[in-house]
Amino acid sequence: MFYYTHLAFSFLIGLFLLDYLPIENKFIFFLFVFLFSSFPDIDKANSKIGKKFGALSKIIGFIFGHREIFHSLLFMVFGYILLSVFSGLIAIAFLIAVASHLVLDALTPKGIMPFYPLKYKVRGVIKTGGLLEKLIFVGLIVLFIVKLSTGHI
Ligand SMILES: [Zn+2]
Repeated sequence: MFYYTHLAFSFLIGLFLLDYLPIENKFIFFLFVFLFSSFPDIDKANSKIGKKFGALSKIIGFIFGHREIFHSLLFMVFGYILLSVFSGLIAIAFLIAVASHLVLDALTPKGIMPFYPLKYKVRGVIKTGGLLEKLIFVGLIVLFIVKLSTGHI
């Protein structure tokens, strides 16, 4: 999926969970949700985030492969535990952003391997950049407007 679909979905999930989480600083929380929403794609050099990290992204992609460990529950849990040492707030933002990223990528034909190193794949039919992804993006924006204007979904 494109970075903007990941961004919109993770932001919406964050907005929805805000009512249930002890978030003391919403600005910092959403800043990190934004930053982490496409973070798993650092394993792909020609992704939006991959281009920003240049050689590092190429090395990560070469060593770890695209949509392998960086798109797994192992990565999500390990990252959460690691970030928890520094900040619970940033760790929660990471968890929400990466979980929402994995859900969307699992809907694509390429899919993800959530239980990596096990090779079991979860995949769907929504092509990256296809009409269905665009419809999902529009749907997310509509839900975002509804949530902001009414406080409900
Ligand atoms: Zn991805």
